Amino acid sequence: MKNILFSVLIALSLSACYDEWWHLEELPGEIVVTDPHLEPYLDIVQESVDGYNQHFTKPILHLKVDYKANKKCGRLYLMTMPGDKGGEATVVKGCKQYLEISRDHLDAGDGLRLIIQHEIGHGLGLMHNEDKNSIMYYMSVGYDKKTKKWHQHITDDNLQEIADYFGVELKK
Ligand SMILES: [Zn+2]
Repeated sequence: MKNILFSVLIALSLSACYDEWWHLEELPGEIVVTDPHLEPYLDIVQESVDGYNQHFTKPILHLKVDYKANKKCGRLYLMTMPGDKGGEATVVKGCKQYLEISRDHLDAGDGLRLIIQHEIGHGLGLMHNEDKNSIMYYMSVGYDKKTKKWHQHITDDNLQEIADYFGVELKK
Protein backbone atom coordinates (compact mmCIF):
# COMPACT_ATOMS: atom_id res chain seq x y z
CA MET A 1 0.00 0.00 0.00
CA LYS A 2 2.81 2.34 0.90
CA ASN A 3 4.42 1.73 -2.48
CA ILE A 4 1.21 2.41 -4.33
CA LEU A 5 0.81 5.67 -2.45
CA PHE A 6 4.39 6.61 -3.19
CA SER A 7 3.88 5.77 -6.85
CA VAL A 8 0.94 8.14 -7.03
CA LEU A 9 2.92 10.87 -5.30
CA ILE A 10 5.75 10.59 -7.81
CA ALA A 11 3.26 10.48 -10.66
CA LEU A 12 1.67 13.71 -9.54
CA SER A 13 5.00 15.35 -8.96
CA LEU A 14 6.51 14.40 -12.32
CA SER A 15 3.42 15.53 -14.16
CA ALA A 16 3.92 18.94 -12.56
CA CYS A 17 7.02 19.45 -14.70
CA TYR A 18 6.93 21.97 -17.45
CA ASP A 19 6.24 20.54 -20.86
CA GLU A 20 7.59 23.66 -22.50
CA TRP A 21 11.33 23.36 -22.70
CA TRP A 22 14.12 24.41 -24.96
CA HIS A 23 17.72 23.45 -25.44
CA LEU A 24 20.65 25.34 -24.07
CA GLU A 25 23.06 26.50 -26.71
CA GLU A 26 25.81 24.56 -25.01
CA LEU A 27 25.94 21.59 -22.73
CA PRO A 28 25.40 22.75 -19.16
CA GLY A 29 28.40 20.71 -18.08
CA GLU A 30 28.20 21.51 -14.41
CA ILE A 31 25.48 20.49 -12.06
CA VAL A 32 25.89 22.70 -9.03
CA VAL A 33 24.22 21.61 -5.84
CA THR A 34 23.25 24.78 -4.00
CA ASP A 35 21.12 23.55 -1.13
CA PRO A 36 22.71 22.05 2.03
CA HIS A 37 19.56 19.95 2.45
CA LEU A 38 20.85 17.78 -0.39
CA GLU A 39 24.04 16.91 1.47
CA PRO A 40 22.87 13.52 2.81
CA TYR A 41 21.74 12.60 -0.70
CA LEU A 42 24.81 13.57 -2.70
CA ASP A 43 25.55 9.93 -3.54
CA ILE A 44 22.14 9.64 -5.18
CA VAL A 45 22.74 12.89 -7.04
CA GLN A 46 26.14 11.59 -8.21
CA GLU A 47 24.52 8.31 -9.26
CA SER A 48 21.97 10.25 -11.27
CA VAL A 49 24.70 12.23 -13.03
CA ASP A 50 26.70 9.05 -13.66
CA GLY A 51 23.55 7.55 -15.15
CA TYR A 52 24.02 9.93 -18.06
CA ASN A 53 27.81 10.14 -18.17
CA GLN A 54 28.41 6.40 -18.42
CA HIS A 55 26.86 6.29 -21.88
CA PHE A 56 29.09 8.89 -23.55
CA THR A 57 32.71 8.62 -24.67
CA LYS A 58 33.51 11.56 -22.39
CA PRO A 59 31.50 12.85 -19.42
CA ILE A 60 28.90 15.46 -20.35
CA LEU A 61 28.06 16.45 -16.77
CA HIS A 62 30.03 16.88 -13.61
CA LEU A 63 28.83 17.50 -10.14
CA LYS A 64 29.97 20.38 -8.00
CA VAL A 65 28.83 21.26 -4.50
CA ASP A 66 28.75 24.98 -3.82
CA TYR A 67 26.27 26.23 -1.29
CA LYS A 68 27.24 29.82 -2.08
CA ALA A 69 27.14 29.36 -5.83
CA ASN A 70 26.94 32.50 -7.89
CA LYS A 71 24.35 31.60 -10.47
CA LYS A 72 25.62 32.15 -13.96
CA CYS A 73 24.40 31.14 -17.39
CA GLY A 74 24.76 27.68 -18.79
CA ARG A 75 24.80 25.70 -15.60
CA LEU A 76 22.28 23.42 -14.05
CA TYR A 77 21.48 24.11 -10.44
CA LEU A 78 20.08 21.38 -8.27
CA MET A 79 18.10 22.92 -5.46
CA THR A 80 15.41 21.79 -3.08
CA MET A 81 12.16 23.50 -2.36
CA PRO A 82 9.46 23.34 0.29
CA GLY A 83 6.05 21.88 -0.46
CA ASP A 84 4.88 18.75 -2.17
CA LYS A 85 5.95 19.19 -5.77
CA GLY A 86 8.30 16.33 -6.59
CA GLY A 87 10.45 17.85 -9.23
CA GLU A 88 10.55 20.78 -11.56
CA ALA A 89 12.98 22.03 -14.12
CA THR A 90 12.97 25.71 -14.93
CA VAL A 91 14.73 27.95 -17.39
CA VAL A 92 14.88 31.64 -16.62
CA LYS A 93 15.43 33.85 -19.66
CA GLY A 94 16.98 30.91 -21.53
CA CYS A 95 19.93 31.25 -19.26
CA LYS A 96 19.68 29.98 -15.71
CA GLN A 97 18.47 26.46 -15.21
CA TYR A 98 17.12 25.18 -11.96
CA LEU A 99 16.24 21.64 -11.09
CA GLU A 100 14.12 21.69 -7.99
CA ILE A 101 13.39 18.71 -5.80
CA SER A 102 10.79 18.85 -3.07
CA ARG A 103 12.19 18.28 0.40
CA ASP A 104 9.24 15.97 0.98
CA HIS A 105 10.80 13.61 -1.56
CA LEU A 106 14.40 13.62 -0.38
CA ASP A 107 13.87 10.33 1.42
CA ALA A 108 12.42 8.69 -1.66
CA GLY A 109 15.50 6.50 -2.20
CA ASP A 110 15.56 5.23 -5.76
CA GLY A 111 12.53 7.45 -6.46
CA LEU A 112 14.74 10.46 -5.79
CA ARG A 113 17.18 9.22 -8.44
CA LEU A 114 14.26 8.89 -10.83
CA ILE A 115 13.12 12.46 -10.19
CA ILE A 116 16.64 13.87 -10.51
CA GLN A 117 17.36 11.97 -13.74
CA HIS A 118 14.00 13.05 -15.14
CA GLU A 119 14.70 16.72 -14.37
CA ILE A 120 18.26 16.52 -15.69
CA GLY A 121 16.73 15.03 -18.84
CA HIS A 122 14.67 18.21 -19.20
CA GLY A 123 17.83 20.18 -18.56
CA LEU A 124 19.43 18.36 -21.47
CA GLY A 125 16.51 19.27 -23.69
CA LEU A 126 14.38 16.14 -23.48
CA MET A 127 10.60 16.41 -23.51
CA HIS A 128 8.14 13.95 -22.05
CA ASN A 129 7.54 10.91 -24.24
CA GLU A 130 5.10 8.02 -24.47
CA ASP A 131 7.60 5.26 -23.69
CA LYS A 132 6.86 3.74 -20.29
CA ASN A 133 10.42 2.40 -20.14
CA SER A 134 11.83 5.89 -20.45
CA ILE A 135 12.94 8.18 -17.67
CA MET A 136 11.07 10.87 -19.61
CA TYR A 137 7.63 9.25 -19.36
CA TYR A 138 5.49 11.81 -17.55
CA MET A 139 4.90 9.57 -14.53
CA SER A 140 6.69 6.81 -12.67
CA VAL A 141 5.68 3.20 -13.32
CA GLY A 142 6.87 -0.28 -12.45
CA TYR A 143 8.28 -0.28 -8.94
CA ASP A 144 10.08 -3.56 -8.22
CA LYS A 145 9.72 -4.52 -4.56
CA LYS A 146 12.67 -6.95 -4.73
CA THR A 147 15.25 -4.58 -6.15
CA LYS A 148 13.53 -1.50 -4.68
CA LYS A 149 14.04 0.20 -7.99
CA TRP A 150 11.80 1.76 -10.56
CA HIS A 151 11.65 0.14 -13.94
CA GLN A 152 12.22 3.34 -15.89
CA HIS A 153 15.66 4.15 -17.17
CA ILE A 154 17.48 6.38 -19.61
CA THR A 155 16.67 4.70 -22.92
CA ASP A 156 18.74 4.46 -26.10
CA ASP A 157 16.34 6.92 -27.73
CA ASN A 158 16.84 9.43 -24.90
CA LEU A 159 20.61 9.10 -25.22
CA GLN A 160 20.59 9.37 -29.00
CA GLU A 161 18.57 12.58 -28.81
CA ILE A 162 21.08 14.14 -26.40
CA ALA A 163 24.05 12.92 -28.46
CA ASP A 164 22.61 14.26 -31.72
CA TYR A 165 21.71 17.63 -30.31
CA PHE A 166 24.99 18.28 -28.54
CA GLY A 167 27.22 16.53 -31.04
CA VAL A 168 28.68 14.09 -28.54
CA GLU A 169 29.42 10.41 -29.10
CA LEU A 170 27.73 7.48 -27.50
CA LYS A 171 29.79 4.55 -26.31
CA LYS A 172 29.32 1.56 -28.60
ZN1 LIG B 1 8.89 16.32 -16.62
